[in-house]
Amino acid sequence: MKEVVGVSLCLLGLACRYNGRAKKMRGLERFLERFSPLPFCPEQMGGLPTPRPPTQFFGGDGRAVLMGQARLINEEGRDVTDVMLKGSRMALSLVKLLGVKKLFLKEKSPCCGVNKVWIEGKLVEGCGLLKALVEREGLSIEVVVGDEF
Ligand code: SF4
Repeated sequence: MKEVVGVSLCLLGLACRYNGRAKKMRGLERFLERFSPLPFCPEQMGGLPTPRPPTQFFGGDGRAVLMGQARLINEEGRDVTDVMLKGSRMALSLVKLLGVKKLFLKEKSPCCGVNKVWIEGKLVEGCGLLKALVEREGLSIEVVVGDEF
């Protein structure tokens, strides 16, 4: 039986990104031979439309948001921190409900970023909200960059 793993929906080739496009992972067919995906899009789950204005962090990354030190502001100047947090928490609830132990996430995204995110116009070391929530809850869930398999 294939292992169930969490996956950013856009990596499966579905057009849920801010720009109305997908970002299908390279090697998706190989990935599907090995894993059974549990897809989620935290930004859509939080209630944001597609397409939507691009968003970046101000003041720090996802970990800093959880400590109340940073916010997520979109290109139109709207603070979307709470809606993105809501969607990320929903995705994590699903992951916990199904006992998923590994997440393949889209790098550089405010919710799904693993090692790099956009902060104040620069692509820098940091993580998105979902990985930050996994860390803060001390969950034994592996979080990896899923852009290629
Ligand atoms: S929130 Fe995650 S799943 Fe949704 S479009 Fe952004 S990177 Fe993809």
